[in-house]
Amino acid sequence: MENHLVTENRVTMNGQGGLTGTPVVAGFAYGPVLWPGKRVEYDETSLGTDRVIADDERDAESERLVAAAAVVAGRLRDRASHASGAAAEVLAATAGLAEDRGWIGAAKSRVAKGVPAPAAAVAATAQFSEMFAKLGGLMAERITDLNDVRDRVVAELLGRPEPGIPTPSQPSILFADDLAPADTAGLDPAVIVGLATRLGGPTSHTAIIARQLGIPCVVAVARLSEITSGTMVLLDGGAGSITVEPEESEARELVERSVAEAALVAAWRGPGRTADGTDVAILANVADGASARRAADAPVEGIGLFRTELAFLDRADEPDVDEQTRLYRDVFEAFAGQKVVIRTLDAGSDKPLAFIEHPDEANPALGVRGNRIGDDHPEIVRTQLDAIARAAEESGTTPWVMAPMIATAAEAAQFADLVRQRGLTAGVMIEIPAAAILAPAILAEVDFVSIGTNDLTQYTMAADRMSAELAELTDPWQPAVLALISQVATAGAQQGKPVGVCGEAAADPSLACVLVGLGVTSLSAAPAATAAVGAKLSTVTMEQCRAAAAAALATSSPALARRAAAEKLDH
Ligand code: PEP
Ligand code: MG
Repeated sequence: MENHLVTENRVTMNGQGGLTGTPVVAGFAYGPVLWPGKRVEYDETSLGTDRVIADDERDAESERLVAAAAVVAGRLRDRASHASGAAAEVLAATAGLAEDRGWIGAAKSRVAKGVPAPAAAVAATAQFSEMFAKLGGLMAERITDLNDVRDRVVAELLGRPEPGIPTPSQPSILFADDLAPADTAGLDPAVIVGLATRLGGPTSHTAIIARQLGIPCVVAVARLSEITSGTMVLLDGGAGSITVEPEESEARELVERSVAEAALVAAWRGPGRTADGTDVAILANVADGASARRAADAPVEGIGLFRTELAFLDRADEPDVDEQTRLYRDVFEAFAGQKVVIRTLDAGSDKPLAFIEHPDEANPALGVRGNRIGDDHPEIVRTQLDAIARAAEESGTTPWVMAPMIATAAEAAQFADLVRQRGLTAGVMIEIPAAAILAPAILAEVDFVSIGTNDLTQYTMAADRMSAELAELTDPWQPAVLALISQVATAGAQQGKPVGVCGEAAADPSLACVLVGLGVTSLSAAPAATAAVGAKLSTVTMEQCRAAAAAALATSSPALARRAAAEKLDH
């Protein structure tokens, strides 16, 4: 089925339109909207602040208060028993607060003086909040929880629905302005199948819990409040869109597919291979020993890009051979016996290094960056290559070594010579259109190439990769970028040399299939993205990848390229 949501404006299914926000957790969810009950509004009349309880009714009022607190605590404890980990702890702690003797005692002493139970609960909470605020630190952080308990107890006393998230009778999509910690911690992914908030960003509390629970989630959705409880919506956590009243069977199919995909990704362990058995190594991008060790837990077959400059961003002086050797060895040992591609310093532009004198440049991205630093500082390149060679020898590994920002075959030849003098395998990155256009000449000088799609896109489209305004131009699905990748992959195949991709493009499962269809032989990405890439690749044949690549190449925009590829890959 065609993916109707991947279009220019993202929400053009048969429904009545939709909203967009910031995507947080990918996946589709379909169901009725559920808005949690409003927090209790404290007007004096409903609380009873303006009344005095008669003497002979005060004991009963006190019992009413204790019973309400017990009901609230019981409900929270029940939810805690169905949760696990941090969520269970948060809920159990909140339940404990509801039955806290000090808090209940303070409220009861007010009831004994004739204050109605709801007003007594509010006053006791204010007293404790003041005390917690004075104590500061962890105690002060509990004020939010205490206020949450107060709202629940008051609602119980007033016979109103409990604030927070009611348990829906059918799987629902939770809409909220934002959520209290106890609300988010208690979410059950079986009944809350999607989540959208009007406020919050990708690192908000809601976003973090949604990621942990794997609930498709979109945050910062303006106009969210226009959609009322009970409205059927389709939430697309990957695109950040919400479609109102979508066509039901299409929506259900998208959800089914996304649930199946999530299960496949969770179970995927590698190695990288298409459904019909073509091997495509799935590799990790790393920055140092710690990230390499973490990457070793991901289903990857090696390292496709070790960005060495990232380890030295905070250094005032150039690290000597010994220090560099230790760092490289640390990374090589994390992947002993496996493929490791290390890149020489890509300093300059957005990654200046303090120990390298960077000239004052009007356009640093087009200036002395990456391999070009070796023109004025050949000793920096030599020192690094010496350290890489020593680390290789000491760790008994055979890393591949590549240079960033290569523009000409002459630069490639010069670098390859330095690498081979040290008995290592030489390659270069293809990040500059000139290098892609003359890929046959460059490949003739080296043993392999790796395409850096982040910079290749930036330089092909003449669009700064950091610019939010130019996001459509800096999209690696741009057909012009795909055409250059195609030229490089074809040249690699003709010369029998590996052509990898190590830019962000390799982290996009559908684009990864297109790259494979263009002839790319390995994919390297952030470790967290690799399972989704490998899982997707395992579902498609080489023929589908080639068809998707040809279809994407024949389009005129990233959105159309995505749609064209999806048609070939998702059938
Ligand atoms: C790239 O440009 O795609 C790449 C992998 O290099 P970096 O992102 O480090 O510039
Ligand atoms: Mg780059």
